[in-house]
Amino acid sequence: MDASDIEKDLSKIHYTEDQILAKLRELAGRIERDYEGKDLLMVGVLRGAVMVMADLARSFGRHVEMDWMAISSYGSGTKSSGVVRIQKDLDTDITNRHVLIVEDIIDTGLTLSWLVSNLESRKPASLELCTAFVKPDAAKMAVPVKYVGLELPDEFVVGYGLDYAEKYRNLRCVATLAPHVYS
Ligand code: 5GP
Repeated sequence: MDASDIEKDLSKIHYTEDQILAKLRELAGRIERDYEGKDLLMVGVLRGAVMVMADLARSFGRHVEMDWMAISSYGSGTKSSGVVRIQKDLDTDITNRHVLIVEDIIDTGLTLSWLVSNLESRKPASLELCTAFVKPDAAKMAVPVKYVGLELPDEFVVGYGLDYAEKYRNLRCVATLAPHVYS
């Protein structure tokens, strides 16, 4: 779905598909160099990270394994509750594996901090983080994020995997919704 298909629903386009893909290719290049000679397992956080994972993984000129976790942290509101629940766990044993968590967006970082301590307890060989988008509050996070994509303002955005009430995930760009959509 393109922005032009739902023009009335959007108040601002932050990044186009081309801008997002260019940034992900840059991150993929860094990741490829850093993991040269090592097996890499990318762990995507459902459902938002589906698009990021697909584009990041296809930018590599090397093999990579992918697994998924589903965790809930948002409920029905638009800010993290800090209460995280595993809805789907990994199918892979990550003990002694080089693991890269792939996130769509980091806002408060509460979800990610929880995920990092959960996965660290499984004793991976290494554990790093990659996110396509980052909001200003993420700067206060205790957990360092090695691969950071594009910056967004402190607004609720949709597109490129990110939803509002399960819609807009298939929008190619990342945009702020027009106020009438919420009311
Ligand atoms: P955090 O725990 O960092 O505050 O929130 C992380 C999760 O909240 C993300 O993985 C994403 O699912 C969701 N999230 C954060 N900001 C937004 C946003 O602007 N739009 C949407 N659709 N989801 C968001």
